[in-house]
Amino acid sequence: MSCPLCERIKQTNLGKYPYLIHEFEHSYLMLGEHQFYPGYSVAVLKDHHKEMTDIPAPVQEKFFRELMQSSKAIELAFKPDKMNMCSLGNVVAHVHWHFFPRFKEDAQFFDPPWLRMQEFEKAKITPEAAQQTIEKIRTALK
Ligand SMILES: [Zn+2]
Repeated sequence: MSCPLCERIKQTNLGKYPYLIHEFEHSYLMLGEHQFYPGYSVAVLKDHHKEMTDIPAPVQEKFFRELMQSSKAIELAFKPDKMNMCSLGNVVAHVHWHFFPRFKEDAQFFDPPWLRMQEFEKAKITPEAAQQTIEKIRTALK
């Protein structure tokens, strides 16, 4: 069984994943590989679980705090009108949460970010271009 997020974690642990923002006890905060929505980030649980309810309760609580810290840091760094957080996992069934900072100027502010999914690829970033944004979020995490 190969899981793309377990693979990404393996690369992260080897220091080979360039979009790592922060390592928490139970999760990694990573900058999204596209920035169609500037500041888009993903929290990935270290252990492979399909559902939030599969995570042992003490870890659920700590992971929740990590999600809150991550969301707050992105809020502080980008000052969006609204943070969108979502966990779906239909494509990759390894618990992860998406953070989308949203702005009222965004023409589709009232729509879920996934409606623009086809355009995400056009906003792919490079590790070099990501560094400034990663630093911005790291600073806000402190
Ligand atoms: Zn996995």
